[in-house]
Amino acid sequence: MPGKIPHHPLTIAGEAYAGQSRYEVVNPADGRVIATVAMAGKQEVTLAVQNAAERFRGYLWRSMRPQDRANCLLRLAQRIREEAGELADLESRNAGKPIRAARAEIEGAARCFSYYAGAVDKHFGQTMMPGSRGRGAVYHEPIGVCGLIVPWNFPFLITAWKCAPALAMGNTVIVKPAEATPLTALRLAELAQEAGFPDGVLTVIPGHGDQAGEALVEHPSVRKISFTGSTETGKRVGRAAADQLKRVSLELGGKSANLVFADADLDECIDSSVWSVFDNSGQDCCSRSRMLVERPIYDAFLTRFAARTNQLVVGLPREETTDLGPLITPSHRARVCGFISTAQDQGAHLVQGGEIPAEAPLGDGNFLLPAILVNAHPSHKIMQEEVFGPVVCILPFSDEEEALSLANDTAYGLSGSLWTRDYDRVQRLVHGLEAGCLSVNSSSSVHQEMPFGGVKHSGYGRELGMDALAAYSQTKSVFYG
Ligand code: NDP
Repeated sequence: MPGKIPHHPLTIAGEAYAGQSRYEVVNPADGRVIATVAMAGKQEVTLAVQNAAERFRGYLWRSMRPQDRANCLLRLAQRIREEAGELADLESRNAGKPIRAARAEIEGAARCFSYYAGAVDKHFGQTMMPGSRGRGAVYHEPIGVCGLIVPWNFPFLITAWKCAPALAMGNTVIVKPAEATPLTALRLAELAQEAGFPDGVLTVIPGHGDQAGEALVEHPSVRKISFTGSTETGKRVGRAAADQLKRVSLELGGKSANLVFADADLDECIDSSVWSVFDNSGQDCCSRSRMLVERPIYDAFLTRFAARTNQLVVGLPREETTDLGPLITPSHRARVCGFISTAQDQGAHLVQGGEIPAEAPLGDGNFLLPAILVNAHPSHKIMQEEVFGPVVCILPFSDEEEALSLANDTAYGLSGSLWTRDYDRVQRLVHGLEAGCLSVNSSSSVHQEMPFGGVKHSGYGRELGMDALAAYSQTKSVFYG
């Protein structure tokens, strides 16, 4: 007998609200409803913002002794680790993540809170002597209420990336999770309370993007928006924020290249390249969906890449052996399949994959076998637009110049990889490639300690590293005569 489906009311300033509607949260692996959630409309967003603004003005959080604020963040990291099993299970059921990946992401989120706890009392301003007498001091102050808009592909981890530095700097935050994946963010709000965060410092308001999301961006008391999602929605958010001269950072889509030169260590490169595109079933803004391979090794690369892809286990997220889980929704899978068929119509050849498993137990979920395409033209839709699914295009190139030109030939500029043993070439290419983050002889894009974000249509502003503290603070210069 299935258990009772839990319902999550909206919680604002300790009060429960029914919200403007109820949303059924579905497990993408089997289509079953796992929870219902009260969704915020404009009215509830306004309440949440007023509460967060009052808390900010009340100085309780921003003027708390740095050690005490750091301790709140550390206790939250500890509570996340204590509840890691439950959180990973929840994330896996809500986002369709393979359980091993979900565990790693929960630990990544805990590390993020610990990292910024360490920064609270080590983020200094400056003093100087601007003239012949007197002293200048530059203070780093929090901005105010920050609206944090989170996507569905890494729900808990990205929530942590935004909350931890914003809270470390003394802001109060309102998180708007993606409608499909609100459950771990809601749990985070409970854990924050248990960790001793004052009420109203971290509020989570599930809601639809075009209602709660827009209301958050448009509310004049929200002083900063940090958004991760599609380029289209990012532009809309940027325009609305510009109307109020609101600070905004945008981490948007990608169409990243994986450049493989003939002198690369193929043994390392193949496995890493396969994961670089198919991890999280390709639902990753850093996915290396364009594999560019130097002609002399193109055939060998393709054969080995296809063979390694065949070894990936597409399966139920709860199984320890699963490598790739389902896509987030049936409509998203249909969109991804549309990309594959359009590519074929335009002349690309599907080497393998792209099928929807029909048999139980995968038949009930949004599964899709990883697809490899060749013979796509660089101008084709499949080479230009973000697919956000388990689909890769593999293309040959003749020399470094062509490799660079192909790699830069998209509107996006988030990440990319470079495989070669020639370090002179590395130096030429890392500065020629239009991307915010690159990896050399590795596919690892995101590191807690390094700024993460894009150029061109992949957005602006940086998450992570010490740069994130600057993104959630503003300087104030004071001259003491
Ligand atoms: P969106 O960009 O629409 O959604 C991202 C977040 O923004 C969600 O929380 C969403 O809420 C919210 N949102 C939507 N509309 C608005 C708005 N007008 N104002 C404020 N917030 C809003 O992405 P989708 O989920 O629709 O995915 C579509 C495509 O976007 C994907 O196929 C992929 O290509 C790309 N994408 C990129 C991501 C990245 O990491 N860079 C992450 C997710 C998607 P709600 O969920 O309620 O709509």
